[in-house]
Amino acid sequence: MKSVARNPETIGIHGGSFRKDEIHKSVAVPIHQTTSYQFYSTENASNLFSLKEFGNIYTRIMNPTNNILEERITELEDGVSSLSVSSGQSASAISIQNLCNTGDNIVSSTDLYGGTLNLFNNTLKSMGIEVRYADPSDPKNFERLTDEKTKLYYAETLPNPSLRVFPIEEVATIGKDLCVPLIIDNTSCPVICKPIKYGATIVIHSLTKFIGGHGNSIGGILIDSGKFNWSVNKNRHPNIWMPDQSYHGAIWGEVVPKLLGINIPFIIRARVVLLRDLGYTLSPFNAFQFIQGLETLALRIKQHCKNANIVKNFLQSHKKVQKVIFSTNQNKFFNNLSKKYLKGGKGSLIGIELKGGLEAGKKFINNLKLFYHVANIGDVRSLAIHPASTTHSQLSNKDMLKAGVTPGYVRLSIGIEHSEDIINDIEQALEKI
Ligand code: PLP
Repeated sequence: MKSVARNPETIGIHGGSFRKDEIHKSVAVPIHQTTSYQFYSTENASNLFSLKEFGNIYTRIMNPTNNILEERITELEDGVSSLSVSSGQSASAISIQNLCNTGDNIVSSTDLYGGTLNLFNNTLKSMGIEVRYADPSDPKNFERLTDEKTKLYYAETLPNPSLRVFPIEEVATIGKDLCVPLIIDNTSCPVICKPIKYGATIVIHSLTKFIGGHGNSIGGILIDSGKFNWSVNKNRHPNIWMPDQSYHGAIWGEVVPKLLGINIPFIIRARVVLLRDLGYTLSPFNAFQFIQGLETLALRIKQHCKNANIVKNFLQSHKKVQKVIFSTNQNKFFNNLSKKYLKGGKGSLIGIELKGGLEAGKKFINNLKLFYHVANIGDVRSLAIHPASTTHSQLSNKDMLKAGVTPGYVRLSIGIEHSEDIINDIEQALEKI
């Protein structure tokens, strides 16, 4: 059920159907730390298992605390339904496993998080799923790489390290005609970008980052726009249109709209088939942590972006910095995309290349005092990392460069501390190079 909230500041606190716990009247969301749920009768139990009725069965597949998180993020992203999962990695894996089988392919942007590249280049390959890489600087590249076995397009709104904003609407439009849904990982841009507004079919997040915000829990989520027309080419999507023997021949593309009145076969199949079989479940305790994070998300994002802009300006004029990589420091094509898609802030990730390359980068990181040197982004704390020796180190040199990681690249995730303190720390570390 949709709440009366309309803006992200309000949705983060009031979104979804939860107002209070109906028995005890608690206003903070209770943690339903339970594995299973009492059935009313044998008939009720049977109906729930055969999806004639929808309700709680077992926490591997659904949980009331997770449900409140899902409802709030659904509203935040202008979607129709969501599925929370155990990590951002499992969100991206599920988004592909839900549509692809052995022999299929996907077309992905070249600009991706290192962990996603590992999933695509190794695990998906071993499952017989091919990933074709399209340079997003020409959206038509996606069309060129599409054939009858292409099941989806995949990209990140603001991928690091390149920080080139993805042409969401341009690629979604290509996919619409070909019946190829667009999956967008919006991890680095909650609140400031709404990919569904521009035609993304499914949005995913690593909840671990900005939504959690406090660096204490791992989680992920998939949001279904409910807008994709899966019937434009039924042959392309057998997982949606072929009878599912594990549910007595149910055809998800038919059953779901009939039962629920909404067009969400993707997210329902992901829950009742993949969560059932693979168990990528989010713990209710972590869902509670993310619900806390959501309450301040919109406020934090404003501060993250404001600080990042100040830090970017400082770095641009520093004599030891060779290049500053930021969503607005790209060529004309990508700067226009930043203008079009990022509203109310341009993100809080900054890349720097220091004069002195690899050695200078290492020295800089080793001398930071306020920044944490960690493999994370989107924390309230400012963070720094050297991708070539960490997040992207499992890639070949060629793939690393393709992803935009040069040997001296340092990634900063700007936190919500006072900007003066952040700059002082950067300045003293730069002085030591
Ligand atoms: N997507 C992006 C853009 C990320 O930055 C990350 C992690 O850094 C992930 C997905 C994976 O998320 P998780 O660490 O929650 O599995």
